[in-house]
Amino acid sequence: MRTMQVYSTNRQSPDVSIREAVLTGMPPDGGLYMPAKIPRLAGDSFTHLKNYSFQELAVRTGFPFFAEEVPETEFRELVEAAINFPAPLVPLEEDVSALELLHGPTLAFKDFGARFMARLMSFFIRQEDHALTILVATSGDTGSAVAHGFLRVPGIEVYILYPKNKVSEIQEKQFTTLGHNITALEIDGNFDDCQHLVKTAFTDPDLNNSLELTSANSINIARLIPQSFYYFWAYAQCDDGKPPVFSVPSGNFGNLTGGLLAKRMGLPIRQFIAASNVNDVVPAYLRTGHFTPRDSIETISNAMDVGNPSNFARMLDLYDHDVGKMRKDILGSSWTDDQTRQAIREVWERTGYLMDPHGAVGYLALREHLATAREDVAGIFLETAHPAKFLETVEPLIDTGIDIPDRLEEALHAEKQSLPLSNRFDDLKSFLLSTPHQ
Ligand SMILES: *Cc1c(COP(=O)(O)O)cnc(C)c1O
Repeated sequence: MRTMQVYSTNRQSPDVSIREAVLTGMPPDGGLYMPAKIPRLAGDSFTHLKNYSFQELAVRTGFPFFAEEVPETEFRELVEAAINFPAPLVPLEEDVSALELLHGPTLAFKDFGARFMARLMSFFIRQEDHALTILVATSGDTGSAVAHGFLRVPGIEVYILYPKNKVSEIQEKQFTTLGHNITALEIDGNFDDCQHLVKTAFTDPDLNNSLELTSANSINIARLIPQSFYYFWAYAQCDDGKPPVFSVPSGNFGNLTGGLLAKRMGLPIRQFIAASNVNDVVPAYLRTGHFTPRDSIETISNAMDVGNPSNFARMLDLYDHDVGKMRKDILGSSWTDDQTRQAIREVWERTGYLMDPHGAVGYLALREHLATAREDVAGIFLETAHPAKFLETVEPLIDTGIDIPDRLEEALHAEKQSLPLSNRFDDLKSFLLSTPHQ
C-alpha cells in the first residue's frame, strides 16, 4: 500500500510521507502539513462506538493515518502508553456537559497530543542514529505537556521557549523543573515572539544544517490527529441520540481543528463553536470574512492569548478559503475576563462544578448558542485544564480553597531552572549552535 501522503497548506513544497511530516514538523514553504486523504471510518463503526473503550476508539481512529508506517500492534501499544488517563463527559445542566480533558500528567488537554507525538517520534527515530532537537513555543500549557511527554526519551533534546512573566507560576514550574533532556528558555517578549522565533529557526539554513530540528507545537500533524480521538469518545458517551455541538476554547485552534478532522472522518458533529477570549481574530473572521492577525492581549485564559493562530491555515484549507462554507460548521464567540470570572462563580455556586478560565469561555459560548438553537442538541464544552493550574484567578472567585493535585504540588516545590534570552533570533541561533549535538 502507498504510504499516507501529506501536503503543505501553502502548496509550494512537495508532498511527503506522514512519517517525514511528523519528524520535520513543518514544510519548508512555511505552510502546515495536512493529510492528502482523511480516512473515512466505515458507517458501521459508529453503531459500535459505544462498545469500545476510549483507548480502543483512539486506536481505530488513529491507525488509518499510520497504517503503512507503524505495525498495528506497535500502534496499539503506543496509544495505550500515551493515552493512559480518562476523558469523562460530565453532565452539568440540561444539555450542557463538560468533556474533561484535564486528567493527564500536566492537567491540560495538550497531554493528548504531546504524549502521542513523543511516542510516535521515538518509534520513528529508533532505527536511525541521529539526535532530534525539538523546539517548542508555549503560552503556558504546551510547554509542560511537551516536556513531560518527551522527558528522558533517548535521542531527543527539547527546548521550550516561553514568554517571561506571562505564564502562571504553576505553569512555569511544570516545565522548568524537570532537567535531563528538557531546557527552558525564558524569552524577553510575548508568546507571538516565541512562536516567531521557532518558525524562523525552521527556515534558517545554518541551524538546519547542523541540527535535526523539529517542532512540537500544535503545528505538528502528530499533535493534531490524537486531538480528534476524544471527540469520538464524547460522542460515544452521549446516549440520547441528540446531535452534538462542541464548544472549543481556542487559541492556536489545534484543538478545534482536531474536531474538524473527526467530522471529516465521518463523525456526525452538528456544530462547532470557536470560543475565544478577547483575542478574537477567528470569530472576527467568521463575522466579517476578513482575517486580521494582531498582537495578542493578556487575559486570564492565557493559553488562548494568541493573535495569529497557526492552525487557522488548516481551517482555511479544509474549507477551501471560503468563509461561507466555514460558517456552516463553525460559529464564533468571544468573551471578556469579567464575563469569564462571572461564569466560573455562577456555575460554582449553582452546581458545585469548578471550571478553569479556558473551559469557562467554552461554557459561555455554548450557553449563548443553546439559548437560540432551533433544535435539541447535546451541548458539550471542552474543559481543557484543571482549575488548580490557575489558582491566582480562580480561588478568589469561590468560597473555599482549591485542592491542589499532588502532581502540581511536587512541581511547585521544585527549583526553577531556565535560561534567559532576548527575543532576537540571532541570540537563539547562537545559543542553539553552541549546544552539544550529534
Ligand atoms: C492550549 C490551550 C487552549 C487552546 O488550545 P488551541 O489548540 O491552541 O486552540 C485552551 N485551553 C487550555 C487550557 C490550553 O492549554
